[in-house]
Amino acid sequence: MDRDPSAEKNCAAVSAVPPPPGLTPGQQAVLTALRQQPQPLSAQALHGVMAVQRSIGLATVYRALDLLKLLGLVQHRVTLSGETLYSVVEHDHHYLTCLQCGVSVPVETCPVQELVAHLQRTNSFRIYYHTLEFFGVCDRCS
Ligand SMILES: [Zn+2]
Ligand SMILES: [Zn+2]
Repeated sequence: MDRDPSAEKNCAAVSAVPPPPGLTPGQQAVLTALRQQPQPLSAQALHGVMAVQRSIGLATVYRALDLLKLLGLVQHRVTLSGETLYSVVEHDHHYLTCLQCGVSVPVETCPVQELVAHLQRTNSFRIYYHTLEFFGVCDRCS
């Protein structure tokens, strides 16, 4: 069918909140792609997802992730196996992590919201996000 090119432009913008100004197209693409992921993922995995649709180098993905981290738009977490997983800063992450099998179970409630507000007030520090991880042994492993 005949598709209007301007309609395609609209289509691409549907899923995302407008990215902050000052990002390069590559950085915006990385942010958008990361937003579409249901789970935190490694830079390599994100690059794999993105490389299906566009030509982008792994080094570019790494650089973009580094910058987005500094802007408080992307957070990362290192797993027990040493893998770095990235996700957008939309909500904070809390996990129960099993030291035996490495499984991480997300915890939905946030026990430290008041502490965050307190720390911001008393230290004049702007907190972008926090992570909280509890380590132990899961049901299956104990
Ligand atoms: Zn386990
Ligand atoms: Zn929290």
